[in-house]
Amino acid sequence: MVTPTPETIKLQGGSLSLDFANSTDWTEDQAIVETQDVLLEPDSLERWGERMGIAGRPGGADELELARGLRSALHAIFSALARGQEPDQFSLSRLRFAYAQAVAAGTLVRQADGDFGLEWSREETRRVRFAVAADAVALLADPARMARLHRCPGRDCGWVFLDTSGRRRWCSMQSCGSREKMRRMYARKRAAAVRAPGGPAEPATG
Ligand SMILES: [Zn+2]
Repeated sequence: MVTPTPETIKLQGGSLSLDFANSTDWTEDQAIVETQDVLLEPDSLERWGERMGIAGRPGGADELELARGLRSALHAIFSALARGQEPDQFSLSRLRFAYAQAVAAGTLVRQADGDFGLEWSREETRRVRFAVAADAVALLADPARMARLHRCPGRDCGWVFLDTSGRRRWCSMQSCGSREKMRRMYARKRAAAVRAPGGPAEPATG
């Protein structure tokens, strides 16, 4: 398995907050998490923010911890909604906490598309977390985009994304999609070997 970095991890979410939720794999397997979580290094939050054009000044270990907490909350919220379930209150209040701070510290400025939006100074040490929280709240308030929200069914994945084509099942056909194809191919081969003469004996049926 390839070890991603903040600069190379795939951006498949279709919205800033979903890409942030996807900055690790969501699995019980800690060995996988250790190689797939790109927010483990002290400077990783700033590096990811730099890539996304939302970096502020480095916020240190406390800010990284808060950002990782927000990431868990976002993943819990969007996973639940993708499955047609209600998000838990703890995760919602974690998001609300970050969003409230973001609104308080931000300024309203006209953006490239002509709409007004929140912006934060590049001196702001919480800028990545604020931009992500504001994006999440905007996404939650957008029923057209929320109708396209999915959670990848790939093993040890759990990525959340917006399916803009209406046909997308996997976060990525190259990773989870092809792994699943391989698994099905092996399962078919095993089944064929069981049926073939001289293959492993079939369990007696009646
Ligand atoms: Zn996946």
